[in-house]
Amino acid sequence: MIIQPTAIYKEPAPIKDLDNPFESMMERFNVAAEILNLEDGIYEYLKTPVKQVIVSIPIQMDDGRIEVFEGYRVVHNDTLGPSKGGIRYAPDVSIDEVKALAAWMTWKCAILNLPFGGAKGAVKCDPSKLSKVEIEKITRRYTANLISVFGPDKDIPAPDMNTNEQTMAWIMDTYSMHAQRTETAVVTGKPLILGGSMGRKEATGRGVMICTLGAMEKLGMSAANARVVVQGFGNVGSISAKLLYEQGCKIVAISDVSGGLYNPNGINIMHALDYVQKNKALEGYPEGDRITNEELLELPCDVLVPAAKEDQINAENAARLKCKLIVEGANGPTLADADPVLRDRKIMVVPDILANAGGVTVSYFEWVQDRQGYFWSLERVNRRLERAMRNSFEAVYEIAQAYKQTLRIGAYVLAIDKVAKTLKLRGIYA
Ligand code: NAD
Repeated sequence: MIIQPTAIYKEPAPIKDLDNPFESMMERFNVAAEILNLEDGIYEYLKTPVKQVIVSIPIQMDDGRIEVFEGYRVVHNDTLGPSKGGIRYAPDVSIDEVKALAAWMTWKCAILNLPFGGAKGAVKCDPSKLSKVEIEKITRRYTANLISVFGPDKDIPAPDMNTNEQTMAWIMDTYSMHAQRTETAVVTGKPLILGGSMGRKEATGRGVMICTLGAMEKLGMSAANARVVVQGFGNVGSISAKLLYEQGCKIVAISDVSGGLYNPNGINIMHALDYVQKNKALEGYPEGDRITNEELLELPCDVLVPAAKEDQINAENAARLKCKLIVEGANGPTLADADPVLRDRKIMVVPDILANAGGVTVSYFEWVQDRQGYFWSLERVNRRLERAMRNSFEAVYEIAQAYKQTLRIGAYVLAIDKVAKTLKLRGIYA
């Protein structure tokens, strides 16, 4: 598919601070915008979030003190439909990080052909230092403060780092109490019993696995015994590792926040999953040598799956990576300055906005099922997810080939072109 340039595009001001995740996103956006000859006005429109809300969340803590937390919700774009995006709880989260994550959601939904725009939310807090009651209070007050932003036809949250099915259940309940009716479709990633979807919990990791197999095919690699390194052993990392292990890959290293584990003969992922289930972290798991998360990235392997957090691969360590393929399970694990290094070294990168889009795809399936009141089998969910991921992978690959660009730029071109064309058809309401 060749995309025709739409209009004249003027060079934007240079952007320097690549540690800023929003600017790191814009760096790639700018390359794609130039390829598309995006006109000035559309460029400004797509770069600017439509809504940025900061709320204060006062909570009475278990010891009686009142503490005030800060919460964010950024709707980046709603051209394709109601906005969609997860909520993360983290002590160091910033509005710029949320803006970047919201924009990535816009591009992800466009690449996967979902009728959604992009959003993201966060609360600046450290859940490891909070009781369950305090987390519930934060979640409910955050939701209540954003009650006019959220809605099944407006903005639909989902889990992200440090939030889970329970958090989504509280959001659904709080929203429903205000609406005076049960509104399951206001949030996705819910427990099955509350209108969740089969396969949602595994969806992001499953998408990572499907993209890895797709990329291996293009590189003429076989999954059997391919050496895979996975950073992060939470939802995305552990499921990606498990599914790739089931495809015959040899998982030679895994890690979490407590550090990494390396075993060139391969780690039994089922045992590691059992261990983490019982002990909460990989720390103390005996089946390999302890390494740091930095060392893990540079191990000799065929496939590297960063599935923990952003800003892990930069221009400096990119020069030392020993993999042939990177599949980005996490959002933003590669800084923009690493892109040319990886490209020159012919390391293929399946970008986050494609590789981890399995989660939002099954979130879309969950939203459809909630609205229909009719629930699908796991087999149907997985079949439709596989088809969506494969089609999107092929579409991105084709554009990247046509423009002689990386898969990342191909993905941005596909996404921006789709949102820009839709925006032009809708026109600007005034
Ligand atoms: P999670 O909280 O379930 O797991 C995060 C994992 O990373 C944990 O194992 C944690 O110990 C580890 N970790 C944290 N800090 C680390 C560090 N400095 N070094 C190494 N490991 C570290 O989160 P998740 O849902 O698996 O999300 C991981 C990434 O995937 C995030 O970037 C998130 O935005 C992205 N993502 C998640 C989903 C989803 O459906 N959960 C969908 C798309 C993208």
